[in-house]
Amino acid sequence: MEALASFKKELSSPKKIFITTHVKPDADALGSSLGLANYLIKKGHEVTVVTPSDYPSFLYWMEGNDSVLDFTKQEDHELAKKALKNAEMIFCLDFSVLGRVDELGELIRQSEAYIVNIDHHQDPEDFADFRYWSTEAAATCELVYELIVELGDKNLIDKATAECLYAGIMTDTGGFRHPNTTKNVHLVVAELLELGANASQIANWIYDSNSVNRLKFIGFAISRRLIVREDIHTAYFAISKKDLKKYQSRTGDTEGLVNYALSLDGIKLAALFSEREDGIKISFRSSPEVAVNKFAASYFNGGGHKNAAGGKSESSLKETLEKFESLVEKNQEELFHHEALSAD
Ligand code: 5GP
Ligand code: MN
Repeated sequence: MEALASFKKELSSPKKIFITTHVKPDADALGSSLGLANYLIKKGHEVTVVTPSDYPSFLYWMEGNDSVLDFTKQEDHELAKKALKNAEMIFCLDFSVLGRVDELGELIRQSEAYIVNIDHHQDPEDFADFRYWSTEAAATCELVYELIVELGDKNLIDKATAECLYAGIMTDTGGFRHPNTTKNVHLVVAELLELGANASQIANWIYDSNSVNRLKFIGFAISRRLIVREDIHTAYFAISKKDLKKYQSRTGDTEGLVNYALSLDGIKLAALFSEREDGIKISFRSSPEVAVNKFAASYFNGGGHKNAAGGKSESSLKETLEKFESLVEKNQEELFHHEALSAD
């Protein structure tokens, strides 16, 4: 309560505000950042949104997208650094450990600005002056909506802001299908629709904007790069650098692919390994009873939510796959049968 009062006090006069989110932002990361930014601008603050990397073009429709600075872009880098240096408040959205924002993390740690963390991931690092955090929330966008309401400013959520927030809730619940699709999710979403969000338009922008290359890539991956190990309830995709190049893969093109592996009957653990410039990026998904975030944190330097997590590996693709298979084999009991060890 005290923290909330100090946060409200900070916001009570116009501030220079820096908003950032995790590397390779998804709809929840960017939607919560831009939704919050649009609101804070209406309140009279000066706001800069900086992403630690680029993000998929199917998010470019979001209001405020044109002003986002990408820390990895030469032309944006200095502007972003300056905004961070001048910031009086820093908002960290949709991540709970500073390692998730690459080099920005250390700069934020050293900053003397008032730091706010709005997030729904497990095990938050203690870096914020004010934390608006709940693992019960399906999406950071849900928390941003609730925070604005708590500040008594629901009337400042316009159609464009409602659409940013709706997008994050829609995608983080897997289109209102994952176990995190609570009654509260539907209540919040109902309010966002009331505020003007157009559900079918947003679904169209996000899910129906494939390039021909992307669709062909998905077809290729499913027919040629899917490995199914029914004996250990596991299926995974292994995508090489060469594959990505062949299909002219762009940021966002592999998003959602892992769900095809999980959609197989009897499969409880799915993964996507993609070979990137800086190592192997891994996406994990699991059925409701399997805690894949613990597995990602223990063995692949990652984390996330119980049923949707990520990680990385610096070994070769082949070695990483061998390690993965043998670890699933070794941890079968804990992964698939040991309820007590499941994370929330
Ligand atoms: P995705 O597979 O969509 O990239 O990520 C799924 C979930 O895992 C997201 O909530 C994301 O924040 C989290 N995640 C992805 N990669 C990492 C990682 O390298 N470290 C941690 N701690 N979380 C990750
Ligand atoms: Mn999220």
